[in-house]
Amino acid sequence: MGQKSGRQERSKKLELALSETMKAATEVQSNKDEAEGLKAKDQRLTSVFGVADLKNGAIGLYNVGQSCCLNSLLQVFLMNIHFTGILRRMTVPPRAGQKNRNVPYQMLLLLEEMQCGKQKAVFPTPLALCLSGYRVKLFVQHDAAQLFLTLWNLIKDQMKKPELVEELSSLYTICVQEHLACQKCSLETKRKSKMLTLPLPMLDADSCVLKTLEDCLQYFFRPEELTDHNMCFCEQCGRKTPFLQSMKLVHLPQTLTIHLKRFCFGESSYVHKLSHYLPFPQDLDFNAILTENQCQADDNEKASWQYELFAVVAHSGSTSCGHYCAYIRSLTECKWYCFNDSQVCQVSWDDVKCTYGHSNLNWTETAYLLIYMKKCPK
Ligand code: ZN
Repeated sequence: MGQKSGRQERSKKLELALSETMKAATEVQSNKDEAEGLKAKDQRLTSVFGVADLKNGAIGLYNVGQSCCLNSLLQVFLMNIHFTGILRRMTVPPRAGQKNRNVPYQMLLLLEEMQCGKQKAVFPTPLALCLSGYRVKLFVQHDAAQLFLTLWNLIKDQMKKPELVEELSSLYTICVQEHLACQKCSLETKRKSKMLTLPLPMLDADSCVLKTLEDCLQYFFRPEELTDHNMCFCEQCGRKTPFLQSMKLVHLPQTLTIHLKRFCFGESSYVHKLSHYLPFPQDLDFNAILTENQCQADDNEKASWQYELFAVVAHSGSTSCGHYCAYIRSLTECKWYCFNDSQVCQVSWDDVKCTYGHSNLNWTETAYLLIYMKKCPK
């Protein structure tokens, strides 16, 4: 367990750098074009992959070498028909050795095994072995937020067709604009950043608990004064000066991944888990959360910021000895399932709400990653 994000940082810069794992240099199209492109893409996907993706119902994955974290993330990927629509069009590597080393191809094989077989659960062993070649070890308790970034980058890098890489990026990538303004002179810099997750703090700067997901989002996008040891070097002033840092939301993707930073480093790098109650809604409207100043998007883009909860990756247990499972709403059946390795069962929204957390029950399941899906534009 444990994240690289280190100590509770007041500055967002580090977090941005961490999440910003993509080197995509392509200029973002105008927001309008992008929204229309996404809409057309959605329609195409629905027409091609409108049938139930997992037609035998939800299929479990056996735990191979403490793979509960990997299993949970695989279920979140493979239950997402927008993702599998891209995966199915990948180029199959020609040689056996290349096939064994190709992460997206091994995911495709696993998906097919899950769909075609009659068994209740399948073994993800070939994929787990393939990943071990990329330093994703077995018998290690992974951090789901980090493993998600690792998996996503491996999939993107190994999916050869440029148009699929672009579709994958647009399916998951959040775009923000960072503003930095020197408080001693007029220097102002703007920079566009891409992120795969929104890493939301669960405490404010005074270590007070943020009460709802909406509060966490508002806190994440608030302007922040960088003073004292957080000061930045101003080229115009020629020294370190206080800065005002703010972040504006530019674009939200079809599949939005929110990372609740429940694991944090305390004194002497002891990792502890924040298990407190944090409710999150099934329907999320970013226009109701952010102010005009916190957005850098046109009306078309903003109109698409209506989300519905798709999945929750939950962690239970302690930081050193924990377990992951995933609650996922089947997009084709509109039913919630709990995927706990090989055990899969249908659950209710009330069961999903049990992952809100409880301060006095540190060992119970708490939501760690929240995956929201854009509601289809009408
Ligand atoms: Zn300055």
